[in-house]
Amino acid sequence: MSINEKSRAYGAQKSSIREISAYAAARKAEIGAERVYDFSLGNPSVPAPDAVRASIERSLALPASQLHGYTPAAGLPAAREAVAASLRRRFGDAAAEAGDIYLTCGAAASLSITFNAIVNPGDEVVVIAPYFPEYRVWIETSGATCVEVLADQRTFQIDVDALAAALTERTKAVVVNSPNNPVGSVYSRSNLTALAQALHEAERRFGTAIYLVSDEPYREIAYGAEVPWVPSLYDRTIVCYSYSKSLSLPGERIGWVLVPPTNPEHDELVLAVAGSGRKLGFVCAPALFQRVLMDCVDCPSDVEAYARNRRALTEGLARIGYEFIEPEGAFYLWVKALEPDAEAFFERAKGFELLPVPSTSFGCPGWVRVGYCVSYETIVSSLPAWEQLAATYR
Ligand code: PLP
Repeated sequence: MSINEKSRAYGAQKSSIREISAYAAARKAEIGAERVYDFSLGNPSVPAPDAVRASIERSLALPASQLHGYTPAAGLPAAREAVAASLRRRFGDAAAEAGDIYLTCGAAASLSITFNAIVNPGDEVVVIAPYFPEYRVWIETSGATCVEVLADQRTFQIDVDALAAALTERTKAVVVNSPNNPVGSVYSRSNLTALAQALHEAERRFGTAIYLVSDEPYREIAYGAEVPWVPSLYDRTIVCYSYSKSLSLPGERIGWVLVPPTNPEHDELVLAVAGSGRKLGFVCAPALFQRVLMDCVDCPSDVEAYARNRRALTEGLARIGYEFIEPEGAFYLWVKALEPDAEAFFERAKGFELLPVPSTSFGCPGWVRVGYCVSYETIVSSLPAWEQLAATYR
């Protein structure tokens, strides 16, 4: 009996981030947790805000049928309205209505739903490398081809000329992720405006419609840089969001897809998103956490804890002489490997119990991602190991 070969292959494929994290766990058991510097995962190190616990406790008093019952497929109207109202307060009256929001099990589901809502067989979806590796899986399983375009290798902003050259009559969408995983960059307003112009130009040239999928799980984690509201810069935007990072709830699986009212295909897209959720079985996001959104949609995450880590890490690595991209958001530092081969550099770092993720995992040569969503102590105590690693290259 044959099974689905593609699914089997995705199941058999190893995620290098997970592998490094499993190696870190084994190593910690072997030599003690405080001697292993695990920078591999993007698991928030700050706890969920107190308001989340208070909201859950209030919900626990509800009758069981409400507490644990099904909600509408797209989510509770009051939760969708809470999200939409927050977006209107922050980004203007045209940002969203409750009916434009489809609640999901996190950004993973938001992106899968979005690709399945817009892609037809043979379409292409462009990603900017380095990129979150699961994009490829979700794009390919929606039936499209994943086309990689390298970011500007000096600034790690979007290389708009390179991107424009990669657009074809088959391009259905471009994915942007800002603040960015794995680089920690935030795309500037002028960079996104140039991207929007390039997309419109390609639309005119090919007589097609190109969507901009804005994946924004790190929107709330920024260190002073403006994080522009993408739908105000490009009309065919669809926004994918998650509370995994902003409320430190990655295991609870809650997020949303927004089809902004300004999107010219709004009504059709809202139907396609609902149909895509139905097709994939992504209906009725966790009810308890839909209710948390009604109370906590505007709760700030503890960005100061990440800012402190970021300061300690960037100052420490700069003193040693490492080159990196100054992080403007998220909780990742993109550090230049001390040799061209990022994998070889990673292997040498391992010898000092330093566990970043080599850039090859993200479709880009020559760098490593250091996730600083760890304890402050881990960062400070790792600095001598970074120094010893650098010394082996002198
Ligand atoms: N997109 C990016 C850029 C991410 O970094 C992640 C998770 O780390 C996701 C999407 C998936 O987020 P979620 O946990 O909400 O599914």
